[in-house]
Parts: sequence; C-alpha cells; structure tokens
Amino acid sequence: MTPTKAYAAYTATTPLQPFEFERRVVGNHDVLIEIAYCGVCHSDLHQARGEWGNSTFPMVPGHEIVGKIVKVGAHVARHKVGDFAGVGCFVDSCRACRSCEAGIEQYCEGHLSFTYNGTERDKTTPTQGGYSSHIVVDERYVLTVSPALDTKAVAPLLCAGITTYSPLRHWKIGRGHKLGVLGLGGLGHMGVKFGVALGAEVTVISTSASKADDAKRLGAHDFLHSKDEAAVQKAAERFDFILDTVSAEHDLNQTLTMIRRDGTLILVGVPPQAPQVHAFSLIPRRRAIAGSMIGGIKETQEMLDFCAEKQIVSDVEVIQMSYINEAFERMARGDVRYRFVIDTNTL
Ligand code: NAP
Ligand code: ZN
Ligand code: ZN
Repeated sequence: MTPTKAYAAYTATTPLQPFEFERRVVGNHDVLIEIAYCGVCHSDLHQARGEWGNSTFPMVPGHEIVGKIVKVGAHVARHKVGDFAGVGCFVDSCRACRSCEAGIEQYCEGHLSFTYNGTERDKTTPTQGGYSSHIVVDERYVLTVSPALDTKAVAPLLCAGITTYSPLRHWKIGRGHKLGVLGLGGLGHMGVKFGVALGAEVTVISTSASKADDAKRLGAHDFLHSKDEAAVQKAAERFDFILDTVSAEHDLNQTLTMIRRDGTLILVGVPPQAPQVHAFSLIPRRRAIAGSMIGGIKETQEMLDFCAEKQIVSDVEVIQMSYINEAFERMARGDVRYRFVIDTNTL
C-alpha cells in the first residue's frame, strides 16, 4: 500500500480539506505514479459540489494527472520507472464490450471506472483522483507524456485536451470548415488551439467581451460576443459546427441560429440543468445536436503525440494545493485563464 496525501470534498457544501488514504498495492499490471501536477476541471467542481446528483464522499477530485512512474508491476510492458506518464478521466473499463474492443473505452457498455467519484473493476472500491500525491493505475490506462513538453501545461490535455480533440477528429473538422467555439474556458481554449491546428476557421463565441484579445492570441480568427444581439443576428447560419463547452445554463436556441443547414452543435459542456430546445431550432435547417465524451486511450495518446509534434499545451496558472477552494470560486465566476493546475508537491 502507498500512503497518499490528498485534498478531498467531505460533503457537497463544505470546502475541500486535507485527506489521507492508501493507494492499492501495485499489482502485476499496475504502475505507481508520483503525481507532479493535476489540472482543475469544471467537472471537478460540478461533482465536488454534487451538481450532477451522482456524488459520493469523501471525494478526491482530479483527472488531469501527470507525474513520474516510480514503480511498476512484474508484468508491466508499456511503461518503465522514470517515464513521464499521464492519467485522464478513467482508470479502467470492462475491456470486453464493443466500445472497449473498438478502443473507445469512454463509451464502455460495461463498467467504466472513472478516475474519481467512481469505483474500480470490482464495482465497489471507490476511486480517488489526482488532487493527491500518488496514484496506482493499470498500465493500459496510463498515457505516455513526452518529456519535451512543459509538464505542468500538459496536465490539462488529459481531459480538456482530449475532450475537444476527439469531436474535432470524429466530425473530421478542419480545412474549409467554419468552427464556433462556445465558451472560452479550459475546454474552450483547447478547442481553439486544436481547431486552428487542424485548419478550421475558428471563431470564439463568448459571454465575456474581455476575452476578445485572448481569443486572437490563442489563434482564433474571429470573436463574437454572445450578449451582443446584433452580432449574433449577423452570424445567422454562419457555422458548420459549434463546439459548446459551456458549464452553466445557456440558451441553445440562440446558439443554433448561428449554425447553417446540415450543421451540428456538439455538446461537451455539462450544465447541471437540462437544456430546452425548440424543435423549430432544428427542423427548418436540418440541424443536429450531438454530444461527445472525453476520448479513448488510443486517441488520447494520439492527441498527446500530436501536441508534442505541434508544440501545443494548455495556458495554465499553477496553484498550491491549499488554494483549491479559491480556485473553485474563481472557476465558478469564469475567472480562469485558462486552466488552474495544482502543483501537488505543495500537498
Ligand atoms: P471552465 O473553464 O469553467 O469554462 C466554462 C466556460 O463557460 C467559461 O469560461 C465561460 O466562457 C462559459 N460560461 C460560464 N458560465 C456561463 C453562462 N452562465 N452562460 C454562458 N457561458 C458561460 O469549464 P471547463 O473545465 O472548460 O468545462 C466546461 C464544461 O465541460 C463543464 O460543464 C464540464 O463539466 C464539461 N466537461 C465535459 C467533458 C466531456 O467529456 N464532455 C469533459 C470535461 C469537461 P465565456 O466567458 O467565454 O463565456
Ligand atoms: Zn475534466
Ligand atoms: Zn467496456
């Protein structure tokens, strides 16, 4: 067993506090990672505060994990001690269903073991996330991180990165497409970087007029302030795709007006409230609404390799562990540019 220091939410209404527990014994196929950095995803906040109605406590959030492998099990073949490694949103899956066999384990039809607020393969033992000093993970669910990239800025790729990369690849978004990225936060800013890298014409659609300069700096070709009704009207039927990364309730009917005939609104943001969509927002232009969840292990590795090749990382603000409750408050207010990353050595 590995004694592990962490921060946990003990209830949905109390601040995160120090928490100590033990990671499981390193099994034959496991690796032990000494965590260096962990990104702070809005999903951490949703779940720590019980906003999705599926929370179990105590909960150690965190699924944007990078660190160094310090121990490997007897049968580990893909990783070795000293390697930089990453762990994303899940740490196991059933390994037998159609989705697992297709390498899209995020859509596992059996049991998907989320990195925290979930259970291990036994469906009983709670999993705990990366706001912690160590983690033990089966080697199949561990990613290889290039030492050439800035480790702290790599952490957010494990969720914000893959969650935006995967739908862009699935819908083959690139040259010749007009892509709107709705919401410029952790996911949104990665969506901009990937959209641009894949050749799309990218427009940030944001409630924050103050983010216009950042949008351009991140590579976006245009910026649209979604509170400016005239600008929204002018953008009618402009986009082939809009990637919706918004974490709070917002009007999808307004967003849909900006999508052209046969275009698609791709939801990745998960506001706690169910959206209201009028059929007439879709029918007259044969528009579609789709959803996408993170990405599989194979595609996550492909994304990390793509980032190493193109020198793409996240824009981060490194924080101490004890700052997490303030970081959550700032995230709830939309005051993040563009991802908090915890230096877990401060635990
Ligand atoms: P974030 O950094 O907090 O960014 C969310 C952005 O949404 C904000 O920066 C803001 O952008 C916009 N926003 C916030 N409140 C709004 C409101 N009331 N109306 C309109 N826009 C608003 O969050 P994140 O970490 O990127 O996560 C975004 C969402 O994706 C969360 O719901 C998270 O749970 C979800 N998520 C889903 C997956 C998946 O697999 N599908 C994976 C990870 C995260 P502007 O200031 O530009 O408007
Ligand atoms: Zn996440
Ligand atoms: Zn499965």
